[in-house]
Order: sequence, then C-alpha cells, then structure tokens
Amino acid sequence: MNKPSSIKKTGYKQLSLIKKLAILLLMAVVLFIGVGTLLQTRLEQTQLILNDLTFNTIPAMTNANQSAIKSSELFSALELLTSSNTPVERRIAELEVNKKLNETQEQANRVNYSQNEFRLLKTIQEEMNNLNLLIDTKLDIADKITKKQKGLSELQYQADSVYKENTGQTPLEKTQKAKWKIAFLELITLAYRVEDTDRLDELKEIKHTIELKLSHLESIVEETLPTLEKQVSPLNTAITELLMSDQGLLNLQANHLKMIGRTRGREYFIRNLISDYSNVANQFSLNKNKYLKDKILALSNGVYTHETWFIGGFILLAVMICTILALYTHAIKRLRILTRKIRNMTTEPILSHSSKDEIDELFHAFDQFSDTINTQNQRLETLSLTDSLTNIANRRAFDRRLFYELSNDRTLQIDLSVVLIDVDFFKQYNDTYGHVSGDEALQKIAMMLSHTIQNSTNLIARYGGEEFVAILPNKTAKESNLVAQNIMQAIRLANIKHRMSDISDRITISIGIATRTKGESSDIDTLMKKADMALYYSKNQGRNQATHIDDIEEMKDN
Ligand code: GH3
Ligand code: MG
Ligand code: MG
Repeated sequence: MNKPSSIKKTGYKQLSLIKKLAILLLMAVVLFIGVGTLLQTRLEQTQLILNDLTFNTIPAMTNANQSAIKSSELFSALELLTSSNTPVERRIAELEVNKKLNETQEQANRVNYSQNEFRLLKTIQEEMNNLNLLIDTKLDIADKITKKQKGLSELQYQADSVYKENTGQTPLEKTQKAKWKIAFLELITLAYRVEDTDRLDELKEIKHTIELKLSHLESIVEETLPTLEKQVSPLNTAITELLMSDQGLLNLQANHLKMIGRTRGREYFIRNLISDYSNVANQFSLNKNKYLKDKILALSNGVYTHETWFIGGFILLAVMICTILALYTHAIKRLRILTRKIRNMTTEPILSHSSKDEIDELFHAFDQFSDTINTQNQRLETLSLTDSLTNIANRRAFDRRLFYELSNDRTLQIDLSVVLIDVDFFKQYNDTYGHVSGDEALQKIAMMLSHTIQNSTNLIARYGGEEFVAILPNKTAKESNLVAQNIMQAIRLANIKHRMSDISDRITISIGIATRTKGESSDIDTLMKKADMALYYSKNQGRNQATHIDDIEEMKDN
C-alpha cells in the first residue's frame, strides 16, 4: 500500500530533469526578485528615515540645542547689566542684553515651542527693559550722591578757611570757633559714612545722629558771638541743606538703597524667568536628542535586519544555483555516457564535426547512429531477400514480387509469365562431383540465368534446392517461350560437365511456363501450379526442354 507521503516524495523525483531545472530556475528567479524587491523596499524605508533625520530631526535637535545655549547666555547678559556701575557700562550691557534677547527669539522661532515659552520670552524681554530703567535710575541717584560727596568736600574746605581766618579774633572767639569746627567736622565725617551705609535701619540711625549733631551745631552757633555767627551760619545752613533736604544726601542714599533692593528683586525675578525658559529649552533639546537617538537606534536595527535578509537571501540563492549546477553537471555526465554508448554502437566512421556542446554532440551521435541503423536495415532487408548461395533473389523476394504484380491494377493491364526452371538429374551430379561442386554448379547456373533474364522489369530467383523461377512482366506466352529458349541456350553455353546425366554429358535444365494474360485474374497458387504442371510435363517428355502450359492444353485439345 502506498502512503500519500511517499507519493509526494517520489513526485519530484519522477519529474524530468528539464522540468526540475526549470522549477529550480523559476524558484531562483522568484527568490531573486523577492529578495531584490524586499531589499529595495527596505532601502527606500531607510532612505526615508535618513531623509527625515537629515532634513527634520537633526536640524530640529540642533535648533533646540542652540536655543538652550542661547537661553543660558541670557544669564551672562543679565549679569553684565546688573553689575554695570556707570551709564556707559549700562548702555554697553543694554546692547548686549538686546542682542542676546534677539538671538534667543530668533532661535526660539526655529524651534517648535508652545505659546507658553514665547510668552515667557516676552516677559523676560519686558522685565529686562524694566530692570534697565531701574538700573538707569539707580545710577542717576548714585551720580547725585557722588555730587553731594563733592559738596561735602567743598564744605569741609570752607570750614577750614573760616577756622584759619584769624583777623581780630579774641581768645573766646578762637575757643568757640574751634568748638564749632569740631562739631562741623564730626558732622561731615558722619555724612561721609552715609554713602557706605547699605542698610536702611543703619541709615536711620545715622540720620538720627546727624539730626542731633545738627542741633548741637545750631546750639553752638546760638552761643557764639555775632561776628562768628556771620562766618559759620551759611556753612551750617549749607550742610543742613546738603544732608537733610528732599534731594539731600540722606534721602538720596535712602532712595539709592531702595533702588538697589528693587534692582536685586527684579534681577532675581528675571533670573528665575530665564531659568524657567532655559529649563524648558534644555528639556526640549534633551527630548530632541532622545528622539534622534531612538531614530538612529531604529535605523541601525533596520540596517541589521536588512543585512540578515540580504545574507539569508544570498545564501539561499547560492544554494539554488549550486543545485542547478549540480543537476546540470549530472545531466551533462549522463549525456556524455549516452553519447559514448551511441558512438560505440555506430559502425560508420565517426564524422568530425565542430560540436558546440554536449547536447549538440549527442544530436550528431544520434544522427550518425540512425544512419547506421538505416543502412543496417537496408542490408538486412537486402539479405533477407537474397539467396546466400547464389546471390540472386530468394523465394521470399519472388513471392513478394509476384504478389505485387498480381495484385497491382497497373499489371492487370499486361500479360505476365512465370518461368519455372529445374536442373535435370542434379542428385546424380551431387553424388558424382560432391556437394561443394554441386553448390558451385548452382552458382554458375544462377549467374547464367541472371545474365539472360535479369533486367529492370524481370526477376530471376532461386525457388529452392536446384529450382529457379523467373517473373517476366509484359511477356506473352510466345515471348516467354522465346525467353525460355534463350535460357536453355545460355545453360548450354555454360557447358557444365555432368557425366552421370541420363540425357547428356552436360548439365541440362527443364522449364515449365505459365502466363497470366491481361485482364485475366489469377492467384499465385493457380499460376505456380500451372507452371509446375508445365515443368512436370517437360520432365516427363524427357527433360532438357521448355513447355508452356498453354501448349499442353493445345496438345490435349489436338
Ligand atoms: P530430376 O531430373 O527428376 O529433377 O532429378 P533430380 O535428381 O534433379 O531431382 P531430385 O528431386 O531427385 O533431386 C534434387 C537434388 O538436388 C537433391 C539434392 O541433392 C540436390 N540439391 C538440392 N539443393 C541443393 C543444394 O543447395 N546444393 C547441392 N549441392 N545440391 C542440392
Ligand atoms: Mg527439383
Ligand atoms: Mg532436378
């Protein structure tokens, strides 16, 4: 019982080699196209990813990085602004801040930030402007304070001048002037401390002390002589004005301290804003970096997969090509063996030819082999129709020819004679001269008969033993009688000795003839029987003579 699996297994084996090769080749082509298409698709995908990386992801990441860097540069610009101590420094810092803000804005425009980030950047710009104004005011106050300091120096100088004026001074006046000068200089010393004060409460204390010192100075003036009062009173008034007026040193310093506080507060606020913005920019940049990293990782994984596919496909293709080559080599080997075998079977000389390949060679070998077979067939055919002893046609050839002549419509329209020839007393010949000589005699007789009868239409054949037969198409009874006479004549001329013949010392023959006249239908047996009867007649009549069957009939009739 056959299992289905075994049928399946042998299915491929049962296929012809050409089909196997065709299937393998088809599979290889399909595989090649498949792998090629797959690789093409994969490469296109890779190209898309690379394009995306080149034109989108990497520029986006670079912009995000640049934006983060620019945002951090705002810190240094802010630092420059807040640390400026002169209007010139402030203006330089202002330019730097505006430059950095513009650059940050430009970079932000290139990055896909949300509206919050743009709002934050706008707030930073506004706050930077406010801070700039505050610093401007602060520097303005500082400038005024510096001028007040100069005023103090001037007053100190004037106080020295008043003190040094000795004209008309009484000892009392000198004492009072010295007392005033000490109080005045104490006040100036205290006033100098105002500029260095950086706390409001400390400034308040100084202010209180200054007020005390001023009233003390006032009291000294009140105690002094009118001449002295004239000299010191303007200075007292001037220092009071310089220190205590609305635009006095104390108020200026208080405003200055307030401005410093407000500037610092705004600076911290802006720093926090920049910090927030910077954090967002950094986070955005990190996200972009991570996105890029993920994409490159995916790309490298994709490339690895392509590589695996390519190597796999290539190996499979190589295996298929090797199989095809192996099958082809196997087929060629078998073709060569086959060609050699066929060549060995070819008896004809091998013709040299420029064979292109094994199949070409096999074709030529087959061609020559078939020629050999045809020649051999022809030889066999000739052999099968030839008598081996006499080399004339044999009984088979005679039968075939007579059948053809009698069954052919064309030959029905003509007379046809059959001549049966029998060597007389041939048994005695054999007995006398031996069988070999008998054979030679038969060969000689056959040759004579052939020379006399054989032509393109007649046929002479060995009928069997020492009997011969001739077919004479288109020969009437009369004409065939003439042919028989010619035959008898030819045998006579052959002059073959036969000393044991009862009727002559040479070999003689007896002949029986039968003719199928045109239009008459006759079969082989009938015709041959008639010829045989005629021959029998010749024998009976003493041999060495020819008889036509029609003549016997006539004789009987007479
Ligand atoms: P007849 O005149 O009555 O024909 O006498 P015959 O002796 O010829 O006739 P028969 O039939 O008695 O003998 C025929 C002989 O022919 C017998 C045989 O020895 C001889 N013969 C037949 N075939 C061959 C052959 O192939 N070679 C030889 N050498 N002799 C043959
Ligand atoms: Mg005989
Ligand atoms: Mg005989």
